Amino acid sequence: MKTTASPKAPLPVPSPDHLTERSRRARTEPMSVRPLGDGLYEVESASDHTYLVDLEAGRCTCPDHVFRGVRCKHVRRVAIEITGGRTPPPGEIAVACHDCDEPIVVDEDAAGPYYCAEHAIAPGDVVVDRETGDRLTVVDVSELRADAVELEAAGCTVAEYGTNEAYEPDVPVVGAVYHHATVASNGVVPASLKVYVFPRTRLRRVTDSA
Ligand SMILES: [Zn+2]
Ligand SMILES: [Zn+2]
Repeated sequence: MKTTASPKAPLPVPSPDHLTERSRRARTEPMSVRPLGDGLYEVESASDHTYLVDLEAGRCTCPDHVFRGVRCKHVRRVAIEITGGRTPPPGEIAVACHDCDEPIVVDEDAAGPYYCAEHAIAPGDVVVDRETGDRLTVVDVSELRADAVELEAAGCTVAEYGTNEAYEPDVPVVGAVYHHATVASNGVVPASLKVYVFPRTRLRRVTDSA
């Protein structure tokens, strides 16, 4: 069979960079990339050497960069891993969802606990109180931490209140209403719309699968 390239549709010309040996190695050699934060990445090569890459500065601690000043295969590999979504870009970190351990990428300044899209909660979501099994509807997810919100009637913080002590004190406070308290036989009773507050980790989102 004879193949001819149409003159109207020229074949894509690879960039000269793409053809270099460093570029090929950056793609094919086994290397493991670990984000360290602050735009730094640790790259372990197949030869068991570990190098430190500063991606935004284009620097690496390997001899190829230090002595020859080239954009080495480690710097390239970090960029490839980021483009492929396998490692977070500078400014972001990979963490595990608090409830299911699914890996997610968040801003490196964001405070935990972290949740995947399925387990994150927002006003209107239905949650279960891990202590009692009660179902509630979320009305507010605060920026304030459980150990910083005072319960006036109880004379202590949300974190210190009763069984809340079993949960992390440094997590956001969530306001929620009980289902049975909001709906009576003759409809919604506004007077019963009391908002209760919980440490975030005491509540688990009710999803379709659970
Ligand atoms: Zn290098
Ligand atoms: Zn999750």
